[in-house]
Amino acid sequence: MSNSTVTPMMAQYLEIKAEHPDALLFYRMGDFYEMFFDDAVAAAEALDIALTKRGKHDDQDIPMCGVPHHAAEGYFLTLIRKGFRVAVCEQMESPAEAKKRGYKAVVKREVVRLVTPGTLTEDSLLDARRHNFLAAYHSVRDAGALAWVDISTGAFHVMPCGGAQLGPELARLTPREVIVADGSETNWAGIVSDSGATLTTLGAAAFDSVSGEKRLCSLYKVSSLDAFGSFGRAEIGAMSAVAEYLDITQRGNLPLLRPPVQEGQSAAMQIDAATRRSLELTQAMNGGKQGSLLHCIDRTVTAGGARLLERRLSSPSCNGDVITGRLDAVGFLANQARLTKDIRQSLRGVHDLDRALSRLALDRGGPRDMAAIRNTIGQAIALSALMPADLPPILADATQDLIGHEELLDLLDEALIAEPPLLSRDGGFIAPGYDAELDEVRKLRDEGRSVIAQMQSEYIEISGVASLKIKHNNVLGYFIETTATHAAKMMAPPLNETFIHRQTTANQVRFTTVELSEIETRILNAGGRALEIEKRLYSSLKEAIIAQAGPLGALARALSEIDLHAGLAELAVTENWVRPRVDDSRAFDITGGRHPVVEAALQKDGLPFIANDCGLTDTPIWLLTGPNMAGKSTFLRQNALLAILAQMGSFVPATGAHIGIVSQLFSRVGASDDLARGRSTFMVEMVETAAILNQADDRALVILDEIGRGTATYDGLSIAWATLEHLHDVNRCRALFATHYHEMSALSAKLEGVDNATVTVKEWEGDVIFLHEVKRGTADRSYGVQVARLAGLPAVVVERAKVVLEALEKGEREGGTAQKAIIDDLPLFSATPAPVSVAPKPSAIEERLRDVHPDELSPRDALDLIYELRSKL
Ligand code: ADP
Repeated sequence: MSNSTVTPMMAQYLEIKAEHPDALLFYRMGDFYEMFFDDAVAAAEALDIALTKRGKHDDQDIPMCGVPHHAAEGYFLTLIRKGFRVAVCEQMESPAEAKKRGYKAVVKREVVRLVTPGTLTEDSLLDARRHNFLAAYHSVRDAGALAWVDISTGAFHVMPCGGAQLGPELARLTPREVIVADGSETNWAGIVSDSGATLTTLGAAAFDSVSGEKRLCSLYKVSSLDAFGSFGRAEIGAMSAVAEYLDITQRGNLPLLRPPVQEGQSAAMQIDAATRRSLELTQAMNGGKQGSLLHCIDRTVTAGGARLLERRLSSPSCNGDVITGRLDAVGFLANQARLTKDIRQSLRGVHDLDRALSRLALDRGGPRDMAAIRNTIGQAIALSALMPADLPPILADATQDLIGHEELLDLLDEALIAEPPLLSRDGGFIAPGYDAELDEVRKLRDEGRSVIAQMQSEYIEISGVASLKIKHNNVLGYFIETTATHAAKMMAPPLNETFIHRQTTANQVRFTTVELSEIETRILNAGGRALEIEKRLYSSLKEAIIAQAGPLGALARALSEIDLHAGLAELAVTENWVRPRVDDSRAFDITGGRHPVVEAALQKDGLPFIANDCGLTDTPIWLLTGPNMAGKSTFLRQNALLAILAQMGSFVPATGAHIGIVSQLFSRVGASDDLARGRSTFMVEMVETAAILNQADDRALVILDEIGRGTATYDGLSIAWATLEHLHDVNRCRALFATHYHEMSALSAKLEGVDNATVTVKEWEGDVIFLHEVKRGTADRSYGVQVARLAGLPAVVVERAKVVLEALEKGEREGGTAQKAIIDDLPLFSATPAPVSVAPKPSAIEERLRDVHPDELSPRDALDLIYELRSKL
């Protein structure tokens, strides 16, 4: 097809689209965003909107669909959730302006923004109480670094991060989008998609540390990055890629980036992705927030406080001083109920300062954001007045940052009306009395009639014509009208110097004056001018705010800190939590510990939670036995949660707690099949157990629940056995190990650091009653059959199981061969007579093995083979 048949508009479309092949192009046409070709087909399906057509291209109909521009945000969100990215192409001039350039000129259009998961700023697209991180990962030879930013708040962080650490770090941060260099994506795609983030690639040049350093220096207007810390090449590369990507997606409209904060790897407790999932720290198993620890402990009243809480919970500290400082703050507030109540009440009047600032900086904000900043500054001053003098350091520092914005407050107070509109577009947000010119034009616009009425009485006076009237019509605009009788006088000197004749009708004569036509133009223009003035004032207010971005950011942080600690204090008081003692020892002593989430769930049903002690200081490993449903998992998890809570700086659900700082936390609790990755439950369990045994050091806390369950009894028992020995002899960590293999209890006699504990049950009239009490010692039996009955297994099956169990237990008492004899005696088991073989014939397993060529097997095939062989036993 020759280009000549392409309409100028379509040519423009194709040109712009060619620059954004991997995004859906939202092409602005009047009040709509239109999509064409494949974009239209994809968008129509994803958004469930009608697909139509418009014109032809290459003799084919052009598929088209569109969405109204004012509703576009919702559509962005749907598309992003479905994995698309969107290029927003706006009209850069009005059709009238285009016409001036030529009759057929196409309106200028440009892509003003790329909407991607990691770069959202709209309130409606974001969860106010969660961060929305964009991350970049870069590795230079053997060093790697991860940088991340929340453009909706400007928070910018970087840390060294080896490839093996990337998965756990992404699990901690849960970014929405991760940028890696072109060509390296194969290394990271799996890890990134496991974390639930979208993978984005960027040319390797964006990660270059030399040009990156320059870029970052100019971004922060500093001559060297040393002011912010000393960064390695990988760190600079990762930060530079973040900056580059923001430049690309925001089209040069850079967000307010806060100076980068360097995080050390050892600062936070290491918790891998599986552990976070199984402990349901910030997300419940079903993916929602409800049911998670975060949901259970969140008493914050501001969005910023909620975001800080999420970050703290995701990164418990390993620094004793930091933890003590935070606990001091919580403790102080927990002791001052009245003060804490007042603080929280005051914080309820605070807006999301970070996000308002960031929207203004990105030119996506409006007067309401300014009012939010104004109100928040005012509220912060009120809050600071509540704060007493003897505050612990964290609160004292935060209190200092609450004030110092009086000048900006005065300015905004004077400039803005009480409740301004969301957008600046329609004006009407500048307060009267702030700008004399604006007041005048507004007066003209709004009070035009009364100005004219005033003129009318002036003219009556000048002319002496009492019946003179000022009227308006669409042809003449404003005019002065008298009857023919008085007209002659007005057309004669000296009045004709003022009154200019315009028109004579049957009964009336119409005049104008220089003054009147001036007023008229001014009235007509007043609306437009008022808007212009407001726009100008808006920009200068915006500048005044942005100039204070640094201190305002500190104010936002201060509010969040205070909210966070007041929330934790409230939690501690209402839920009866205690201050933990956290130090560098290897202690782990909990008295009366509870699982906060399970406790809350039970409370709803009016059921009590049984508190339990846990003491790993002298014997670092507890082997926990007890029937299913007794409360083993709950106990294991609750102790892990207590360590996390204590180290994030919170009180803990217990009557007493002494915890030596835990540097790594591992939990292997109840695996589910990871079918998406072709792994069986057993495989997942072994991979995770291997990770623990390979990584845990003597400061780790390990929670292992029923490992080896996914395989045959003896396999499972031996794996569990060997694992426990390894934890004891090699890892030398603190561990809680739950198992239903009672045989393992014998280990405590052999291994000095292992103690037995059991969750007690009572048997009553053949039923089990769960007491949920954890005691030293071993369980006498597993009660599996009773539990099965409780679960509703048919009575005949339960009865039969009892018979089998009795036989097996008798066999066990009488030794191995006797057990076999007893089993053979059971009618059911002997139903299939054992084959009596005369000459030893190769078994099915042997035959199958003969056909195997080990060199040709992939690890996956080998595993499958083991399963196959196993099934032939
Ligand atoms: P297990 O791991 O031994 O099979 P769970 O830890 O899953 O048992 O606990 C089973 C149920 O028992 C839980 O869902 C909870 O309702 C209840 N439970 C567990 N521990 C306690 C406790 N300490 N106090 C009260 N109820 C508990």
